[in-house]
Formats: sequence, structure tokens, C-alpha cells
Amino acid sequence: MKLFYADHFVLPLPAGHRFPMEKYARLRERLAASGHFAPGDFIVPQATDDATLKLAHDAGYIHRVSTGQLSADEQRRIGFPWSEQMVERSRRSAGATLAACHSALQDGVAANLAGGTHHAHHNFGTGFCVFNDAAVATRALLHDGLARRIAIVDCDVHQGDGTAAILAGDTRCFTLSLHGEKNFPFRKAVSDLDIALPDACGDADYLAALAIGLEQAIHRFQPDFVLYLAGADPYRDDRLGRLALSVDALRERDETVLSACRDRGLPVALAMAGGYARTIDDTVSIHFNTVTTAARLYRQGWPLRAGRLQTAPPQAAPLPATHLPAGG
Ligand SMILES: [Zn+2]
Repeated sequence: MKLFYADHFVLPLPAGHRFPMEKYARLRERLAASGHFAPGDFIVPQATDDATLKLAHDAGYIHRVSTGQLSADEQRRIGFPWSEQMVERSRRSAGATLAACHSALQDGVAANLAGGTHHAHHNFGTGFCVFNDAAVATRALLHDGLARRIAIVDCDVHQGDGTAAILAGDTRCFTLSLHGEKNFPFRKAVSDLDIALPDACGDADYLAALAIGLEQAIHRFQPDFVLYLAGADPYRDDRLGRLALSVDALRERDETVLSACRDRGLPVALAMAGGYARTIDDTVSIHFNTVTTAARLYRQGWPLRAGRLQTAPPQAAPLPATHLPAGG
């Protein structure tokens, strides 16, 4: 399983900024030390070029981001001050999700160790999101004929408003968002299926809602590719979450989504999305569980359906035994 990262492109943020930038490097270090992945599985992605970004974003907005011409209001809405590093990191992060999609077509599953910047809209960024990696990657796969029907399963605690707005009316895509009803963004977009959860929603209610969502997004929509935004912020000790899930329930969530994909022969690309736990190690653990659960499930077999996706390359050879220890 290939893991794409760009955590060495660090944003210069003011002291005390609430964005937990260091979680990404910590996640990569913990995955590298786990023994579940080979050094060659960790890959720095290419930066996404303008032509690819334009599949989901307004050309003028891309230009303003790239040339430092975002207004003060636009920067405030994003939540980061403009910097060269912000541009590079945003292009790399979108590139990581696109690279993970391409890799998933080969191996069944792959991950962006960041991404899930789902609040970025067609012509503006918001909520720490500059470019919408999931929308860009979705449009690129469709444009290149690598997929025909893509489901975006967004389990970040905040609604995937940018993704829903960008892909609205595109019948090749299904956007599912499970999110806190009272949480940001306060003006919600309309996804193909929105499941709004009350404050303090616990494990059982969340997992029941997830089952309903997957029934629509996977069983009924019948995608040939899935993007999974595995936000760590439905966690009960998240500073921005408002829900009350345990670490074990979040792991069960991952297992449920990824098993549903694996059992149907669906390639799935993961993005980590949000996570703002009071203790950063909790966020890192939740993301770590997502990635290792994906590696374990897809190592157990990825039954790509013959003829289902004619442009998909043949299934990769089984991973060598040293790649992932049993039970990883
Ligand atoms: Zn979030």
C-alpha cells in the first residue's frame, strides 16, 4: 500500500495557530516505525498542475492563490496567511490524493497522509482548505477515463460542503457526508446524501447512520471507485468535533467502509481529513488505525471484478510476505 505525503512542506503559521500541522509528520513517522510498510511505500507526490486544478476550480481563483493575490478577506476565510509554502503544500496535497487514486487502481488501496480539504469551493477556499483534493481527483479520474462512477464517502465531522457544491449535478459522482448538524460549515451545501448527526452522537448511533449512508453510496449507486475521507474529528475528545465517538468506534467505522469497498472489488483512495484532539497523539492514533486497517483488509485480498472497470490495470501481484506482518 502506497502512502503519499507532503508534510515537509510546512506552512509558516503564527504562534498559537490552532491548526495541528505537526500531526502529519507524526503520523508518517509512526507508520514508518510500525513495520507494516516498506520505506519505498512512502512517496512524495507531484504538485498538481493548473490544468488538473481547473477540472474543479475557477481559473481566476487558482491564479490568485498561485500569485499571492488573494484578498485579506479570502485569506481570512481560508484561515492561513498566504505564503509560497501554502501554494506548494496545497498543490502537493491535491497531488497526493490524485496519486493515491492512481495507485489504488493498481493495488486496490492507497492513501494521502493528509488531504481531505473538503471545504474548498470552486472559486474560494475556507476552513483551512485551499484546493479540494477529492473533487480535483474525482474530476481527473473521470476526465482520464479511469473511472465512470465515483462515490465520495466523507466521514469528517464537518460537512463536505465544497465537494458537494463542486460536484453538484454531476451524475457520475455520489457525495455522502456524515457530519455534525450544528458544526461548521454553518451554511451547509447539498450532498447527494447528507446525514446530519446531533451533538454528542455516540458510537452506536453513528455506526447505524454510517450503514444507511453506505447502503446508498455503495450498494445503490454502484460506484467503480471510492474516495474515503476518514476524518479523526468525530472523536469524543476533539476540540472541534461536538460528537462523542470512541477510538474503537472510529476503527470500526474504517473497517466498515473499507470492507464494503474491498468486498465489492472497489479500489479506494484514502485521505485523512480533520483531527483536532486535545491530545495530538489521539488524532495520530486514529489516523494510524485507518491506514493500517486499510493495509490489512486489502492485503487479505482485493477481488477486482473482471470487466467491471475495463481501463483498470490488472491486479498487482501479491505483496511479498515481508511487506506487512500478519495481523498488521
Ligand atoms: Zn473536519
